[in-house]
Amino acid sequence: MSHTNLNGDSVGHDEAGQRNTALALGHSSSQVSGSPPASVSEINSNSSASLSPLYSIETLPNKGRCLIASQDISPGALLIREKPLLMAPRDLAPAALETMIQLTLKTLPKHQQRQYLSLQNNFAGNYPFGGIIPTNAYPCGQESGKCAVYPTICLFNHSCRPNCQHAWNDEEGVETVYVIRPVRKGEELCVSYEVSGPSMDRKAMLEEAFAFKCACEACSLEAEEQAASDARHLAIQRLDERISRLHSRPPLGVLWDCRLLLQILRAEYKGYPGTFAARVYWDAFQVTIAHGDLARARIFVERSYKEAVICEGDNTPEVKSVKVLVKDPASDDSFEKSSKDWSTDVDMVPRGLDDDEFEKWLFRLQ
Ligand SMILES: [Zn+2]
Repeated sequence: MSHTNLNGDSVGHDEAGQRNTALALGHSSSQVSGSPPASVSEINSNSSASLSPLYSIETLPNKGRCLIASQDISPGALLIREKPLLMAPRDLAPAALETMIQLTLKTLPKHQQRQYLSLQNNFAGNYPFGGIIPTNAYPCGQESGKCAVYPTICLFNHSCRPNCQHAWNDEEGVETVYVIRPVRKGEELCVSYEVSGPSMDRKAMLEEAFAFKCACEACSLEAEEQAASDARHLAIQRLDERISRLHSRPPLGVLWDCRLLLQILRAEYKGYPGTFAARVYWDAFQVTIAHGDLARARIFVERSYKEAVICEGDNTPEVKSVKVLVKDPASDDSFEKSSKDWSTDVDMVPRGLDDDEFEKWLFRLQ
């Protein structure tokens, strides 16, 4: 598979400073014909290849080169940590990008030039060098003007129900890929190229942006299952939009929407919604902290933090800032910003409830 997109727009909503931008979704790509290295835990573009115990790079019919799990892997495992092979502005015109890449390539060591040129190029006719960027690049964070290509991370294929999540760590200048759901030995490792909606919509977006027909697990279901999955995706879009207006709606409705969205996400993503869950818990944190409910806000921000750690580790700047709020939710700018109507102390958490009763308390269903 190969794909093209430099727009790292997030799925769902993104209110700068309000949303958890740690929960990065981006774009990526795959299929090269060269021999990029595998990784133990980190690949520096300047280093030589090493073999990872977690995956191997294999060539599959109709898929090209892709990553296959070499063993069973648990959620939260770091698969790859990789420095960019080459970085570029995200919005440069193709002709200017071509010139820039030609000049930049000359400054790289020969083996890195070979790694770069081995990546798939969907625009080779007009842009033999620069075309590799829109075919493969990941944005360096959602709001960054830069994007980058990587020797190994650019090999990941897409799945609408991915088992891995990639993220940019701006502090360290590396892209990481974490496993976000249990993976069996022999399973292909995939990330999502950030598409949303029912399967037909996702397929159309992927074909237009990345020039491939998605045949992932979530796009190859039997008719009845596909209809159920599509209905869930429509509900996800609808709830996501409603939750995005969290500061202009009655808080209880937002909180209940968060709960419903989590249930639907778990159903669609087989119990492992990854960054989606982190975002919804973040939204639930935002709505509870804005009304002074420190007890529930602390639980929500802690859950958001735990989900984010599975997806991108605990050392991105964004995740570290969420950790600060887990320790002191009242330090959030939104604390009591809307009202004190739900005011609680941080330790006013009921004890002795079973899981079901606790969730009802948490989401104010009783
Ligand atoms: Zn799909």
